[in-house]
Amino acid sequence: MKNSIRTSHAAFVASAIDNLRHTEKACPGFTTLDIPYLQELRKSLQFISQTASTPEKEVNLDIQSVLAMHMAVEDKPNRGGLQYLLSQLMDDAIRQKFADSLTNKHLAFYNSVACESAGLWLNVLPKNSTFTFDPAKTRVLLSTRFYIRQPEFCDGLRCDCLMRRRENNREHPLIDEKCHHLITGCNKSAFGIKIHHACALAIKDLVQSAGFRAKTEEVGTFQDYTGTGILSEVEKRMRGDVTIFDLPGGFRKTILDVSNTKIHPILSDAAFSRDEAKVEFSAQKRYDERVRKFAHAATVLNFKFQPIIFEITGRLHAKSDAFINSILKHITGFKDGALLQDYWRKKIACTFQQGVGSHILEKLRMLKGQRFAHQYFENRSTYAYESALGDANMR
Ligand SMILES: [Zn+2]
Repeated sequence: MKNSIRTSHAAFVASAIDNLRHTEKACPGFTTLDIPYLQELRKSLQFISQTASTPEKEVNLDIQSVLAMHMAVEDKPNRGGLQYLLSQLMDDAIRQKFADSLTNKHLAFYNSVACESAGLWLNVLPKNSTFTFDPAKTRVLLSTRFYIRQPEFCDGLRCDCLMRRRENNREHPLIDEKCHHLITGCNKSAFGIKIHHACALAIKDLVQSAGFRAKTEEVGTFQDYTGTGILSEVEKRMRGDVTIFDLPGGFRKTILDVSNTKIHPILSDAAFSRDEAKVEFSAQKRYDERVRKFAHAATVLNFKFQPIIFEITGRLHAKSDAFINSILKHITGFKDGALLQDYWRKKIACTFQQGVGSHILEKLRMLKGQRFAHQYFENRSTYAYESALGDANMR
């Protein structure tokens, strides 16, 4: 986003205006002169105005208006100086123009990826295996982040799951080039379950190291209360991903439900409006859906139900993020636990990204028949079986 040309214009204007205030006092009318110095200043102001303008909002800066800005800035010294303000003006417009140029789907992705939790994995030190990303995985994750085609993807690749199409025909769906299908669209998510379990385990570990009792996949979370007759059969079979005991707040248990969700429809462009591209639209949809499923049972049994929702970019739903922060608060240590809290935040983010990376990689390699013999294409066992049957019929 930063650019040295823009920075130099902003810096020049800021320092020139600072001097100009005093010069104008000593020599009234100085700012109206037509000398090279002021010509350059006007040129810079024009550049900034042009860069900071968007189709919706036009910016017209002249020496007087920037002088007024400078006065206003001086009154509030801790909000950044004039140079910062001018750079901000340009950056905002450039970001706005960029967002306007994106398609609905890409905008949704951009809105999702532009947050702290989606980028945490980028600046970890490779101290242990969770924090170390091998080159192939890094390539996959960066391609996901930049919203480009996966390098190991080949056109026309079909998944081994089955999806219902028109007239009840079931077929192997095409995989999209960004491989979002593999993470959130696949109903045969044998690897995808690993992402889910790994995240649930990381969160359980965090809760335990914060000093609470926790369990994953607790058996009979809701079953124990069958005698009360207030839960439906479906509700009795429900099970949280992580159960936390004795959290402050007066609840009997806290039940977490971990899930990840796509940001936009994967293959079809139809019926995805600009409105739905806004920040956290899909995570909120999933959130409401999960709460609807668990709310009744949780309320009558005095459980707290908390969905933990990751968008495909690694963004956490705001309420999930707030919940994890509320657990982190209980971790203390050096610098009031700041370092440990940072470690756990990154650990959860990296666990998710590791899962996404290895899942896309492994599944693509498996589908291409590369999984069992490196670099050699090999028919998948199911296909080999089918073709063997075909051969038998021919005889
Ligand atoms: Zn699939």
